[in-house]
Amino acid sequence: MSDLTDVIVIGAGAAGLSAASVLAEAGRDVLVLDEQPEPGGQIYRAVGSSEASRRAVLGSGYVRGAALVARARASGARFVEQATVWRVDADGSVCYSRDGRGYRIRARHLVVATGALERPVPLAGWTLPGVMTAGAAQIMLKTAGLVGTDAVLVGCGPLLYLVAGQMARAGAPPKALVEVNADDHWRTALAGLPGAIRSWPVLVEGLGMLAELRRTGIRRHTGARSIRLEGDERARAVTFVDSRGRPQSIGCELVLLHAGVVPNIQITSSLGLEHDWDERQACFRPRVGRDGQTSLDRVWVAGDGAGIMGAAASAISGELAGMAVLEALGNAVQRRHREAAEAALAREARVRPFLDALYAPPMWLRRPEGDTIVCRCEEVGADAIRGYARLGCNGPNQTKAYGRPGMGPCQGRYCGLIVTELLAQENGSTPAETGYYRIRSPLKPITVGEMADLAGSVESD
Ligand SMILES: Cc1cc2nc3c(=O)[nH]c(=O)nc-3n(C[C@H](O)[C@H](O)[C@H](O)COP(=O)(O)OP(=O)(O)OC[C@H]3O[C@@H](n4cnc5c(N)ncnc54)[C@H](O)[C@@H]3O)c2cc1C
Repeated sequence: MSDLTDVIVIGAGAAGLSAASVLAEAGRDVLVLDEQPEPGGQIYRAVGSSEASRRAVLGSGYVRGAALVARARASGARFVEQATVWRVDADGSVCYSRDGRGYRIRARHLVVATGALERPVPLAGWTLPGVMTAGAAQIMLKTAGLVGTDAVLVGCGPLLYLVAGQMARAGAPPKALVEVNADDHWRTALAGLPGAIRSWPVLVEGLGMLAELRRTGIRRHTGARSIRLEGDERARAVTFVDSRGRPQSIGCELVLLHAGVVPNIQITSSLGLEHDWDERQACFRPRVGRDGQTSLDRVWVAGDGAGIMGAAASAISGELAGMAVLEALGNAVQRRHREAAEAALAREARVRPFLDALYAPPMWLRRPEGDTIVCRCEEVGADAIRGYARLGCNGPNQTKAYGRPGMGPCQGRYCGLIVTELLAQENGSTPAETGYYRIRSPLKPITVGEMADLAGSVESD
């Protein structure tokens, strides 16, 4: 095989960086592809180039990523930045675009480490200008030091608190947090508390975030219902019914939505891998072994893309996948290294049941009513999806024939889970029985020219 790379790692976040480091440090030829301009992934985005003042705003959890990036840079792994992967095949070939040109490369093994996506938050008015996700606001802060003013944060999940604290430190605290979970929601998470207490640093970090919100005087409205984002040309207010049943309205210029993250399964789905519905995390995840092995010999999955586990666990899962790939390539891996990583991953996993229950998005948020837009690309509403079910549609793929949801530029990344949940509800079935869109390449919008470029760039045996 000429010029065939040993391993292509897709995604340079915590998981991909760790996998690449383990592999390259063992002398393997590793190519890391990521669509971002520099390694770091979501949590550690742009950490390698961020100045001290920005690091102070983003906090110690962010700065931790600098060591991961430095290790991977020093490992000898080759990085291709701003490379958007839009096709992956079971034979190890990967098509990506960079600077408007298409490329196709092939490796003996692939590590898919494409992380998570923010769960869609389909509230009335969520498509108005002036509404974005909290993660998107954080990206602006991490990459450009920009922070939105006169903002209200809506939803649930620890990232909501983290972003609020970061905005406060950047000098623009949000006006309020409108949280969908009630004050006593922690009771639903009690069963997971014993495990969580053994992972006390995570709990301490969480309590620290809440304490910071109290110190900065950011108002929290918990247990909010009937939330609407109001405005004609753009969002001007968030209205809701508070936990005591009183109608509330908060005027604002910016609404930031967040309801947790879900695995990015575009690549694993397009490869035809088995996926399971994870009831606790309310999302699909690819079926993988502890070391990320899939049913395809050459393909491994690491990090949040295999199931939401958080940054620290993602880094360890990347190490484990790296070690497993090394063994598959014929390298010896010390048993004690692998066992230590497995034990560390198990330790990190102990807190998950507690966090998943504590920040579970309520069913009404996952299954919107009325004409709330579900597919933003093709402007298909919840009523329409329910209507398709009443006409006999029982799977997300079929909905495409009825009204094109999932066929726009995002290729179902935004609406996939909502469509599954609405069909399941309307048909009296489960999300597992309902399934997900069949994902096909191109996974991201590309030009015909980028596809045509591939002719000259195929590596061959
Ligand atoms: C928007 C957002 C913000 C977050 N912020 C925080 C935070 O501040 N603190 C925190 O604790 N957790 C945060 N999380 C969760 C955190 O990102 C994860 O727990 C952790 O980063 C997972 O690591 P990972 O390596 O699995 O994935 P990631 O760090 O997400 O890395 C995945 C990488 O894959 C790349 N990628 C994906 N698809 C493609 C493609 N088709 N082509 C090329 N590259 C691709 C992405 O650009 C990304 O760099 C955030 C999640 C999201 C979605």
